[in-house]
Amino acid sequence: MKLETAIHEAYQKLKNNNIKSAMLDSELLMANVINKSREFIILNLDKNIDKKDFDNFQNMVSKREQGQPLAYLTNKKFFWKYEFFVNEHVLIPRPDTEIIIEQVLKIFKFKNNINFLDIGFGSGCILLSLLKERKDFRATGVDISNHAVKVCKINAKKLGLKTRLKLYNSDIDKFKFGKYDLIISNPPYIKNFDIKYLEKDVKFEPKLALNGGLDGISEIRKVIKKSSELIKYGGKLILEIAHNQKKDVKQILNINGFYINSVVKDFSDNDRCIISTKLEN
Ligand code: GLN
Repeated sequence: MKLETAIHEAYQKLKNNNIKSAMLDSELLMANVINKSREFIILNLDKNIDKKDFDNFQNMVSKREQGQPLAYLTNKKFFWKYEFFVNEHVLIPRPDTEIIIEQVLKIFKFKNNINFLDIGFGSGCILLSLLKERKDFRATGVDISNHAVKVCKINAKKLGLKTRLKLYNSDIDKFKFGKYDLIISNPPYIKNFDIKYLEKDVKFEPKLALNGGLDGISEIRKVIKKSSELIKYGGKLILEIAHNQKKDVKQILNINGFYINSVVKDFSDNDRCIISTKLEN
């Protein structure tokens, strides 16, 4: 069978299952199965696919039909400037989270040797991207998931980052190492009740990475409280939040001695990232 026919059949199947990016996903699944780039596929549509690859492709397409995210099927996701290894144990990096990287680079443009902490690093997309951008930064990461530690280590190795990084497998409540110039976190912030209404793809992602408790801000509250102990005076705390959490999160920050610098909107014009400075105890 020709690549073109196989891809077209897959496209139809995915489209029938309301997968929005049906064509792109079919091409990317094929690229992954035959271990070539998407460009190669588009330029070689008349090439034949062998039986083993075809069976493999069909298998992936049927998983995608059921809503399995493309990133978990290919074990790859681009974030910022790099491709990250991901699996079903970590949240798939989102473009909106790149706002955190942009903000850190802006705020610390003229400051060197920053020692920062990432709470709930998951795939490691945030902390590893920052270490790549700034050779003088040192990072510590803490995550409750041992799987995340494994995934992040794979990514650190892929990106050639080993020396400026320390990873801990711990609940943030029990973590007590170091004092940081900067703390960043993209914590779980979906209301427990709302999880069942998320898009089909998101349901395949780890609940641990999404579930923000009954009110959606239980984990953010924990992160802020703990950050208040782990941050240096004048240090910055940068958090990703949901579009409707600004008011509550500002209040928690103020109670914990943080001054609000700004709230940054995402690409859909929703409040997404809140930047604060530790000023009081
Ligand atoms: N820090 C990771 C990310 O931004 C994981 C976040 C999480 O699992 N809540 O993608």
